[in-house]
Amino acid sequence: MREDILQYLWQFGNFSTKPIFTSENEKIEIYSKGILNINEGPDFLHAKIKIGEIEWAGSVEIHVKSSDWNLHKHSNHKAYENVILHVVYENNKPIFDAKNKLIPTLELKQIIDNEMLKKYYALINNQSTLACASHFSNIESVIKLSMFDGVLHRRLERKAVEILAQFQKYNADWEQTCYHFLLRNFGFKTNAEPFARLAELLPYKIIQKQAENRIQIEALLFGIAGFLDESPKDDYQKELTKEFAYLSSKHNLKNRLNHSEWKFFRLRPHNFPTVRIAQLAGILQHNQNLNRVFFETKEPKEIAIIFKINPSPYWQKHINFGDLSKRNLLFSGKQSIENVVINTICQTKAAYGIWKDNSDLIADSVLLLENLPAEDNKITRIFENTGTIPKSAYDSQAMIELYNEFCVQKKCLKCSIGQTILKENSA
Ligand code: SF4
Repeated sequence: MREDILQYLWQFGNFSTKPIFTSENEKIEIYSKGILNINEGPDFLHAKIKIGEIEWAGSVEIHVKSSDWNLHKHSNHKAYENVILHVVYENNKPIFDAKNKLIPTLELKQIIDNEMLKKYYALINNQSTLACASHFSNIESVIKLSMFDGVLHRRLERKAVEILAQFQKYNADWEQTCYHFLLRNFGFKTNAEPFARLAELLPYKIIQKQAENRIQIEALLFGIAGFLDESPKDDYQKELTKEFAYLSSKHNLKNRLNHSEWKFFRLRPHNFPTVRIAQLAGILQHNQNLNRVFFETKEPKEIAIIFKINPSPYWQKHINFGDLSKRNLLFSGKQSIENVVINTICQTKAAYGIWKDNSDLIADSVLLLENLPAEDNKITRIFENTGTIPKSAYDSQAMIELYNEFCVQKKCLKCSIGQTILKENSA
């Protein structure tokens, strides 16, 4: 028996069909079961219950065994002084509060809704990729949509915590924060970390100072990335190396990454970090105000134009220094641009909205997701197999959050889809 199912049974169980009694045989009438407390303290707050002839207002604490109260040392904790009912699966020991007064206890073992419990265990122990897959198509769309909406906003808030932490590290500099997350996204998963380090070691302000000259931006990026520490393989690398020597001394740039920190293994040539750095150099040269790109653009088309910048002529033909490409390498493809918008611009815009307490910015970020095509990955395909096809990036992002943060962690009781399945045909 798990405490979360007992919490669920208390919250959603129907206790009005039969009279219920405390272990001291006093009749219990529930006026309000209280509000689930997600913070420290008793499980439900602001409950209203009549026990015997007295009406009480206070908290409800849930445990598998009544003795868990002592195990958790609740009697020593002020937050538990206001507990009016102890709801337990098994009342194995009478429990007294700090004033030595018996705490009224409701034992669920005898009155529990066994049907609901069976469904719960069937769901939790289901080994399919999606535990509720066989029920999913029968769930009303309004329930699925409201769950998607909840998890989508939760995702934006969760990502905002990470973005705002980085923003603090950059002394509240939004442009440097946008630059950091843009670079990180350019590394995809494989090279996200070295790209993030590159943003830390080469501040955006320095890029802005050299923004008129693509060669200088490339020299700075490739130099700090550690690609100019080897002996030059051709004239182009020689030119960048010379430029970097001048710029690193001018801007007093002492630290750089090691070439070996970059991963090429199992990457397609057009995703090599060298190719991505070259694309980035073009984007940074043409967009010298990242705050505008991130916070003022609203349409996917507008953003696509910003990112459709061809790399310099050398990088249209090379995948690494001295290494020719088999085909011409132009601007980032449609999918990689959409990936930047979904995973960087929308998330940073929402974080900025949260920081500014501006709900319009959060709404813009959600709208942008609604106007972008859905992602296609192994998680969206799991939901597609149940007949739920994502219509936009809003849906695919919600599916990713739902799957990773709820389904994988078996949090079906906290998911309105899971709650609906358990309530179906239960007494
Ligand atoms: S968390 Fe929700 S969507 Fe995921 S498996 Fe459980 S009930 Fe299904």
